[in-house]
Formats: sequence, C-alpha cells, structure tokens
Amino acid sequence: MSSPAEERIVPEARVPRWDAHADVVVVGLGCAGASTAIEAARAGAETLVLERASGGGGTTGSSGGVLYCGGGTSVQKACGFDDSPDEMFAYLRASTGPAPDLEKLRIYCERSVEHFEWLRSLAIPFKASYWPHNFEPWTDDCLWYSGSEEAHPYRELARPAPRGHTVQAEGSCAGGPVLMHALEQALRTAGAEVATDVRVLSLVRAGDGGIVGVVGRHAGRDLHLRARRGVVLATGGFVANRGLVARHAPQALALEPLGGAGDDGSGIELGRAAGAECLNLSAMAYTCPVLVPFELIRGILVNRHGQRFVNEDVNHKRIGEELVLRQEGRMFLVVDAESFARPSFPGIELVASGESPGELEAELGLPPLSLAKTLELYNAHAAQGRDPLFGKRAAFLRPLASPPYGTFDCSVGSGAPVCVFTLGVLWTAPGGDVRRPDGAAIPGLFAAGRSTSCLSAQSCGSSGLQIGEGTFFGRLAGQAAARERA
Ligand SMILES: Cc1cc2nc3c(=O)[nH]c(=O)nc-3n(C[C@H](O)[C@H](O)[C@H](O)COP(=O)(O)OP(=O)(O)OC[C@H]3O[C@@H](n4cnc5c(N)ncnc54)[C@H](O)[C@@H]3O)c2cc1C
Repeated sequence: MSSPAEERIVPEARVPRWDAHADVVVVGLGCAGASTAIEAARAGAETLVLERASGGGGTTGSSGGVLYCGGGTSVQKACGFDDSPDEMFAYLRASTGPAPDLEKLRIYCERSVEHFEWLRSLAIPFKASYWPHNFEPWTDDCLWYSGSEEAHPYRELARPAPRGHTVQAEGSCAGGPVLMHALEQALRTAGAEVATDVRVLSLVRAGDGGIVGVVGRHAGRDLHLRARRGVVLATGGFVANRGLVARHAPQALALEPLGGAGDDGSGIELGRAAGAECLNLSAMAYTCPVLVPFELIRGILVNRHGQRFVNEDVNHKRIGEELVLRQEGRMFLVVDAESFARPSFPGIELVASGESPGELEAELGLPPLSLAKTLELYNAHAAQGRDPLFGKRAAFLRPLASPPYGTFDCSVGSGAPVCVFTLGVLWTAPGGDVRRPDGAAIPGLFAAGRSTSCLSAQSCGSSGLQIGEGTFFGRLAGQAAARERA
C-alpha cells in the first residue's frame, strides 16, 4: 500500500457509482478469507471474495497445512491420546506470551473439537495416524507434538497431548495446497463468489462512520464495491512490508521472511485508516528448525559465551525467539560422536571439530574454559538423568563425553534456517469486529487470520496456530458479518 492514509478511506458521498453489490465483501483468499466466506454464504449472505492475486491460496497455499486443534479430537482419540479443552487452554495460556487474549483462547479451546469436525466435513483429509517426530510430517501422517507440550515448564502446567493436525498429503509443506483446494471448493458450493486480480486499496465509509464498501483496482481500473452488511479484512500479515518490519521489529530484517508478496500489511493500513487499534506489531514468530532430526536434541545449544540458555527439547520457535531476541543471533549446536546426526535442513554447517572442548573454544573464538565448564556441569547432571538448569527431559539427557566433538553454526546469517513471520496487528473481538483503541467496534468492519492479533499475539511456540485460528476466527467473522445490519 503506497497511497497516503487519507486515500485509504473514501467517503461514501464521493463514490461515483457502485460497480457491484454484495452483503459481505471478504478481502483476501487465504484460509481466513475462505472460512469467512463459507460461513457468511451459509448464513444466507450474498458473499463476494476479492483476491489481489490471480488465484486463491495466499501464504496458506504454500504452508505445511498443520492446524493446532485439541481437546479430544477424533484423531487424538483414534491415536490413543487423552486431551481436554482445559488442558489445551492451560498449555496455550502458558506458551503464547505474557498476556494472551484469554477470551479468544478460551473459545478456541472449548470449540476446537467442533472446529476440527467442521474442517473434516469439508472433505479436508486427516489420516488417523501419529507421527512420532519433532517436525511436521513428510509422510501423509497427521498427529504430532507441534509445540512444547512435553517440555519444561509446560509439562508441569498442563497434561501433554499432541495437537498438531496435518492435512493429509505426501511430502513436505504439501498440506497447504490440499487445504486451500478444499476450502475454495466449499466456498463455491456455499454460493460465495470470487473475483481475482482485484487489489483492495481503500475502504468506503458512510456518514455515520460505518464501513459500507471497498475500492478495488482491477486491470488499471477502480471498482467501487458495496458491502451491505460488512467488509472482512483477511489479507494476511506484513512480513513482506520491509518498512513496517523495520519500524516495529528491526531485528527481523536480517532473517528470511516467511510469507508471500500479499503479506504487505495492506489490511493493517486499511484498518488503521478506519480507526482500528493495532496490537503487538513487534511480535514475530522466529522459526528455527535446527534440531531436526530429534537425535540432535541430545546435543546442547550454546551462545557466543559458550553458555547454554534454553532446554533444547522445546519447539523450534521458542529456540528461535531466544536466539534472535536474547542471544544476539549467535548460537552453536555442540554434539559428541554419539549424539551426532546430520541436520535435516540445509544450511547448517559443521564449523568446528576436536577431541576436547578446548579445541572447539579455540576454533570458535569462545572464551577459554567457557564450553569446557558448560559441558562439565551438563555432563555431571546428565549422568543422573537431570537438567536442573533448564529442565530438559531425561529422554534426551546423556553426558556428551565421546570425542570427537563437533559444532554446527546455527547463528542468524550463517545459512541456518532462521525465518520470521509476523504475529500481531488489528485488534478484534472474538467475533471478528475490528476494535478502536477504546474497545468499541467499527461498524461494518471485521477481520480474521494473520491480519489480526490473535492467540499467539506475543509469542509463538506451537506450529499450527496460524491456520488453526485463521480458519476458526474466520468462521466467526463470516457469521458476524452476515448478521451485521441484517
Ligand atoms: C512455508 C510456510 C509454512 C507454514 N506452515 C504453517 C503451518 O503448517 N501451520 C500454520 O498454522 N501456519 C503455517 N504458516 C503460517 C500460515 O501459513 C499463515 O500465517 C496463514 O496461512 C495466514 O492465513 P491468512 O488467511 O491470514 O493469510 P493468507 O493465506 O496469506 O491469505 C491472505 C490473502 O490476502 C490477499 N491480499 C492481501 N492484500 C490484499 C488486498 N489489498 N486486496 C486483495 N487481496 C489481498 C493475499 O494475496 C492472500 O491471498 C506457514 C507459513 C509459511 C510461509
């Protein structure tokens, strides 16, 4: 969005003519927009989806198709796992940052089983199978621990259960296209219409302050599209808007952005121009899958002082957050001969090896004795199956005492897969109403998906929440928009 703020709001009185009408206009066709459109159309609203690309999908279409669902889903039960909405809530409350939106979190957990069945009812395939690894399946398996449920301190706060549900598809990151295909089929069956190559540039505001339409550009021409009931912004995040990232999370500029060209923050700019409050603009998810396969968790992660700083058995996003925000982007993985494995992701290079910690310190430029002392302490406790400093699980604890030692560089900029996507933005009620700073809803304006500040508003330690919440709160936004001014 390069137009100045005042052009993002067009007074209704300045609309020359309406080129088309619908009850609900949805902006963006990713998982959130599609779910919104399905529910709006099913509620009887004439629904039009506008997508700036030549086809739907957005970032969802290139994602892994993992959804964080729980509370006792049919797949959890079939795989023999016990779960409840309360346990799910307790885990998410503890792992989504210091002040998550508890109202949204509660609804999301209480209705998760129902939401999962809704997804299945759209013929989205989920195999009733468990994937016993620490990264999303590259087979067609479904259920896995996609967060840090089994790690300290979460395992003491909530009974662990795997909640990552992966859409059935063969191959890495193959679930997203299957998910989007099914959602798009469902929205068309429900009667919603889709117009592609339409980039929404402005919202149209009535004299009473309510949003009553949008201006979209198609083939160089401006179209004025009336929304009788409501406009829903489902435009994705803003990781591709380098200006906004520089302003709110400059440390993220050094990382590879995870997202598509549509993640340029246009929804935020539109919402803001309409008076919306933005939350958690500096909150980012830092993906960092360096301990895959999980044999590597038996090694230790150290910073540029040769010190451990995290229990290595947490979700990779938690490790990424520590790395980027608190360790100046420097991190090494130290293994011995017994814990050695080749990292699954490319770009993680072996940068030092030696018969003793001292040799590694010299090669890596770490302070003398720093790594030696770290290993001495770690090994003494690991021999007793304990990690009193960080609480790593006994299953991954074993003294690192079999030379040669090796060190992989996992630092930002080393080539290791450290990537970023945005978490915060438009403040919405659970029903999707976009809120002003005083909490009041902006009449006629709704939002869903990554253009909103949702569950993982300040911290993201579990995979699958983005699509999970995008589809769930998209549904609620569609239902609410269909009821508006009805
Ligand atoms: C490689 C990768 C893998 C991932 N894997 C997972 C995963 O497995 N599970 C998970 O939960 N999350 C995953 N994520 C994150 C997740 O994919 C996104 O956060 C989520 O899909 C966002 O959904 P959305 O509907 O909000 O946005 P999107 O899917 O990005 O859809 C937004 C749409 O809006 C359109 N748009 C934007 N601006 C305008 C405008 N002004 N006018 C008209 N149209 C507009 C865009 O073109 C786009 O099609 C992954 C991300 C990446 C990059």
